[in-house]
Amino acid sequence: MNPLLEISFRVPFDKIGAADVEPAIDELLVRAQRKLEETTVSKDPLMALDTMTENLDYAMAVVRHLESVATTPELRAAYNAVQPKVSAFYSGLVLNEALWNAVKAYAATDEARALTGTMKRYLTKTVDSFKRHGADLDPAGKARLKEIDVALAEVTTKFSENVLDATNAWELVLTDEARLAGLPPSAVAAAKASAEAKGVEGWRFTLQGPSYLAVMTYLDDASVREQVWRAFNLRGAAEPFNNRPLIAKILELRQEKARLLGFRDFADLVLDDRMAHKGERAQTFLGDLRKKTEKRFREENAELEAFAGRALEPWDIGYYAEKQRLALYDFDEEELRPYFSLDRVVAGMFEIFGRVLGIVVTEEQGVPVWNGAVKTYRIEDSGSFYADWFPRENKRGGAWMDSLLPRLGLICGNLTPPVDGKPALLTHREVETIFHEFGHLLHHLLSRVEVRSLSGTSVAWDFVELPSQIMENWCWERESLDLFARHYETGELIPAELFEKMKRAKTFRAANGQMRQLGFGYVDLALHREWQAEAGDPVEWSRPILQQFAAARLPDNYAMITGFTHLFASPVAYGAGYYSYKWAEVLDADAFTRFKREGVFSAATGRDYREKILSKGDSEDPAELYRSFMGRDPDPNALLERAGLD
Ligand SMILES: [Zn+2]
Repeated sequence: MNPLLEISFRVPFDKIGAADVEPAIDELLVRAQRKLEETTVSKDPLMALDTMTENLDYAMAVVRHLESVATTPELRAAYNAVQPKVSAFYSGLVLNEALWNAVKAYAATDEARALTGTMKRYLTKTVDSFKRHGADLDPAGKARLKEIDVALAEVTTKFSENVLDATNAWELVLTDEARLAGLPPSAVAAAKASAEAKGVEGWRFTLQGPSYLAVMTYLDDASVREQVWRAFNLRGAAEPFNNRPLIAKILELRQEKARLLGFRDFADLVLDDRMAHKGERAQTFLGDLRKKTEKRFREENAELEAFAGRALEPWDIGYYAEKQRLALYDFDEEELRPYFSLDRVVAGMFEIFGRVLGIVVTEEQGVPVWNGAVKTYRIEDSGSFYADWFPRENKRGGAWMDSLLPRLGLICGNLTPPVDGKPALLTHREVETIFHEFGHLLHHLLSRVEVRSLSGTSVAWDFVELPSQIMENWCWERESLDLFARHYETGELIPAELFEKMKRAKTFRAANGQMRQLGFGYVDLALHREWQAEAGDPVEWSRPILQQFAAARLPDNYAMITGFTHLFASPVAYGAGYYSYKWAEVLDADAFTRFKREGVFSAATGRDYREKILSKGDSEDPAELYRSFMGRDPDPNALLERAGLD
């Protein structure tokens, strides 16, 4: 029997092979198609819709997960073979006319009109989703929408290829060692290795993240920094990788799509089912934060120029900021590592949220796993989860939470592994990552919503990071750190002086960091709300906007947005959604003020948080959930205070 065909809470990871994938998914697609046909003639299509793809979801989640953490060439090939079929099935649902008719017919019944609470919201969201996918358009409108979607997929793919090709096409090879002055040995070695790999003499620099950042942060020779900075900000700005006409095309297509579906602009279309709801609301939000950040931003820039003793160019900022940071704080993050051994951190985290949220976590033995390093746990009354913390060659990078079943989830990371017989010693950032992913996991496992598609983390995009980011706050409180941060050899707590340094370094040039994010958010909304074809080249048009958020004067050919993959590398991507980064930070900083005020271990506040936010999934409008917990709308002041900008 194929182990992927039936849902099993004890996922038989030890029995699933690459050869099982295609036959199982093909069979489950046939079954889902049959259920779809039943749903279209059902009197209550809503609940049928909610459970229609349960088995397929489960099997795909398991396969996708294995592909992420224990891939083999065979598994990857099998996954790539089924993935397009499965996504075509899912994306076909909102375009299925028979299904739409069934939903509409149901929505018109007295029974549907009498729905309340979660079921009412589920119906409204389902109807809205069909409409946003063009269900109500006439045949000509539907045909045009299809053309737009095809064109958007093509143009955005080309955009992303251009960025990749432009990035890879550029290199700078230095042969005079004196010009490398300032670079740390690791960056010099990497540049040497890069040159050797290309069969050239000297040191090779590229526009890839690590190479670019090392040059901008450390390299003394300003003329080299200038060359690299200019090249980076001109990626995709000229032939043969010219993204300028593509950006205009993408913006026009998105605009046309929004109008066709009855929205003012693309921002209003995208934000329709997000917490902000309207582009204007997101714009006001950014404007408010900007007003509160600008003064400190100008001061920071003046301080940096005073420190450098001269007017600064854009390619000087990162370099002098690093020098200033060292002069001011003398803080090396590595000093914290001995206090963060993985086992203590995880045990401390369970202890903290045992107190705050009332959860009881116990390790489980004998559960089948995909690798011997994986641990398994149970949360009393709430399900089970896997934790897989260390890098492996057959595992993808980054950290993430995923769900396999409503009461079954997993958290994965690529943390510093143990070496030389010592325990795994983490950076503070890695500790935050563990807390962050555990927050997503609790959002999933502590969900108490009866509709599957509205449960757990299936919430608006600008709300989903609240339950994860709020957890990171407990990594900055003396009281909670003292529960688990102990020197792995001596058992001593983090010394007061080191704790103070760590707190102060966090707020270094915070206004610049914030203005940078606000600038990207501004330009994103401006392009998707205000730009029109008559305005001409969007690159020229958006430069003065970005200038208002830059620490130094930008050159006249500055073209950062031609490499802005967040906005343009896929049909929606972060388009009109860049503001979400700051939005989520405001939510988590603000919501945490209740814990600050009522006690970071307060079980009463924790119970309230669990009841009003964590357990609710998407069963109510997130703005309502937030208000029910805080008694008011989000207030950005907590974020400003946390960043030292108040
Ligand atoms: Zn997250």
